[in-house]
Amino acid sequence: MGRPDFAALIPALAAAARAAGPPQIRNAGTLGGNIVSNAPTGDALPVLAALEATLVIAGPEGARREIPVSHLLAGVEMLRPGELVGFVRVPLLHAPQAFLKATGRTGPGRATASVAIVLDPARRGVRCAVGAVAPMPLRPLEAERWVASLIDWDGDRGHLDPQVSTAFGEYVAAACIPDPPPPEDGSDPVPLPPAAIHLRRTVAALARRALGRALA
Ligand SMILES: Cc1cc2nc3c(=O)[nH]c(=O)nc-3n(C[C@H](O)[C@H](O)[C@H](O)COP(=O)(O)OP(=O)(O)OC[C@H]3O[C@@H](n4cnc5c(N)ncnc54)[C@H](O)[C@@H]3O)c2cc1C
Repeated sequence: MGRPDFAALIPALAAAARAAGPPQIRNAGTLGGNIVSNAPTGDALPVLAALEATLVIAGPEGARREIPVSHLLAGVEMLRPGELVGFVRVPLLHAPQAFLKATGRTGPGRATASVAIVLDPARRGVRCAVGAVAPMPLRPLEAERWVASLIDWDGDRGHLDPQVSTAFGEYVAAACIPDPPPPEDGSDPVPLPPAAIHLRRTVAALARRALGRALA
C-alpha cells in the first residue's frame, strides 16, 4: 500500500510544515518535536488545535493512552517519564483548509501570528485557531459559530459577502487580543498599546484571508 497523500488529506498541516523555518529545519524537524517543545510559535500547533487532534501517547511496556492535543498544549496533561508522542490522530474532513503565517522579516522566520482555518461541512462548522499571540493556540469559538451560520453550506460556499469575511477577521482578532479590562476605580479605559493594535490588525488580515482561501 502506498503512503497516503498527507498534503491532500490535511492541507493546513502541509501548509504549516512548508512554512516552518528554513529548509534545514523542515528536513530534520518532526511533528512530535513541534508538539512537545510547545513553543507559542510552533507552526503545526494552531492547525492541530483547529483540527481538534488527539495524541496517542506510547508509554513503557507497551502502555498507550490518548489525549486531546489541547490538553498537552495547555499543560492540563503532561508526558510522564518514559512516554513518547507515538501518533497524532486527526479527523479527515475532506474539505478545504488554510494556514497563514505572518513573520517579522522577509524569508523564513518565526510567526508573529498565524491562523489555521478548517471547514467541517458535515457539521456545518468552521474551526479556527490563532497561533503565536498567546502561550497556546487560541480558538475564537463565538466567531467560528457566527461565520458558520452565514455560510451557504448547501449552495455556493464561496459566495460569502466580503463584509462578512472582514467582520470575521476583526471578530477573531478582538477575541484573541482583547481590550485591556476597564480600570476598577472607574477612570478612563486604558487604550490598547500600539504593538497590540498592530498585532490585532495582522490577525484580522490573516483570518480574513485564510477564510477566503478555505471558501474559494
Ligand atoms: C533556526 C530555527 C528556526 C525554526 N523555525 C521554526 C518555525 O518557523 N516554525 C516552527 O514551528 N518551529 C521552528 N523551529 C523549531 C523546531 O525546529 C520545530 O519545532 C521542530 O518541529 C522540532 O522538531 P524536532 O524533531 O527537531 O524536535 P527536537 O528539537 O528534537 O525535540 C524537541 C523536544 O521534544 C522532545 N520530543 C521530540 N519528539 C518527541 C516525541 N515524539 N515524543 C516525546 N517527546 C519528543 C525532545 O526530547 C525535546 O525535548 C525552528 C528551530 C530553529 C533552530
